[in-house]
Amino acid sequence: MSKRPAGVDTDGLLHDVVVVGAGPVGSTLALALADSELDVVVLDARGPGETRRGDRSLALSHGARLILERLDVWNELAATPGAATPITRIDISQSGGFGQMQLAADEQALPALGYVVSYRALQAALDAALTRTRVALRHGVTVSSVGGTPAYAAVVPEDADAQPLLARVAAVADGTGAAIAGIARQRHDYGQVALVARVWRAMPHGGLAYERFTPAGPIALLPEGDHYGLVWTVTSDRAQSLLALADAEFLAQLAHHFGPRNGNFTRVADRRAFPLVLEFARVPAGTRTVALGNAAQTLHPVAGQGFNVGLRDAWELAEIILDTPRENLGDRAMLARYLRGRCADRTAGIAFTHGLVNVFGNDLPFLRWPRGLALTLLDTVLPAKRAFTRAMLFGLR
Ligand SMILES: Cc1cc2nc3c(=O)[nH]c(=O)nc-3n(C[C@H](O)[C@H](O)[C@H](O)COP(=O)(O)OP(=O)(O)OC[C@H]3O[C@@H](n4cnc5c(N)ncnc54)[C@H](O)[C@@H]3O)c2cc1C
Repeated sequence: MSKRPAGVDTDGLLHDVVVVGAGPVGSTLALALADSELDVVVLDARGPGETRRGDRSLALSHGARLILERLDVWNELAATPGAATPITRIDISQSGGFGQMQLAADEQALPALGYVVSYRALQAALDAALTRTRVALRHGVTVSSVGGTPAYAAVVPEDADAQPLLARVAAVADGTGAAIAGIARQRHDYGQVALVARVWRAMPHGGLAYERFTPAGPIALLPEGDHYGLVWTVTSDRAQSLLALADAEFLAQLAHHFGPRNGNFTRVADRRAFPLVLEFARVPAGTRTVALGNAAQTLHPVAGQGFNVGLRDAWELAEIILDTPRENLGDRAMLARYLRGRCADRTAGIAFTHGLVNVFGNDLPFLRWPRGLALTLLDTVLPAKRAFTRAMLFGLR
């Protein structure tokens, strides 16, 4: 910890790292730094024990599990009843065209291809792990802006009575990037919404997930506890009418839309919809500042990649911070190294997700055949399938 730069009215210290946002990504970064000698402060707008996105479920890859294991978070999460449901098989298909692909955990010699994890339970496990460390976690602090100078980053709380915090590097994981100045984000609105709900079927899911591409957009069923989490891509108007339907009618529409691959829906709960956009920063770093997780890229949920890319952002940023002498933290060379290291994985995650939506999420008949062929080939050509699966599980480096 150093003395503050002269003439700056702050809380009196130059912190090594200030993390804005103790969501899953910011908390992961802080935990990965916790055993070091660094002075790390984490700020979050939510109060202690609060979760603002408690209704969300996250699709976690096997690689993400390995990160949480190394941070000593996974065991607590897995021991919480219903908090982490293994996905052992994924059935990928398209309507109106041939082609089908099955991914199976045993083909990869893994216990599961991934997990559906409760955001609330994950947040609770991360919060608990953070309180066991010497990292300073400050709840109830909403940050209004983060800016950088060549000498330090300044993190300014919304509360006018609170002093700005100075840091060698500020890592922004606020979920939107709204707090950070000087990092341009691009936005693509898919003109669709995701209708999400919990649905039950007559028989147990057995760890089988479904991803089906239809002319109207992809639809997914993810095993979660005793039910499925539904993510159904529709237009905004269609979402409004589906949300207004009685449960039985909604389930009938779902069965009709999902086709012969799945059916026997018996119950639905917690229907809601949110708009689908792709938002990303081409260069997710500025002067002494870096954006990560959803603040750096917000992806369409079609491939369940968003959270996993974010977790890898946090892990790799921590590795680089730990490998950088304290006096060089947040300098151009350190941030350039981080950007170089994350480029392939981020670009692949963004391009893959966007490509899936564009190639599979439209009704051009001439595309049905090649995309069916792609799915069939991936299923048959083992090395390609293995490469595809491993990229989904671990990302590209
Ligand atoms: C509507 C929606 C639905 C989603 N559904 C799914 C899904 O079904 N499956 C899936 O895998 N992924 C889903 N995602 C993506 C998933 O939520 C993200 O990948 C994940 O939450 C990213 O984690 P994060 O830590 O980057 O951001 P967040 O989870 O958003 O966490 C950000 C944290 O920063 C804090 N914060 C925000 N602003 C400030 C501020 N100004 N000052 C201080 N603190 C601040 C917040 O309190 C929060 O704790 C969804 C995303 C959205 C937007």
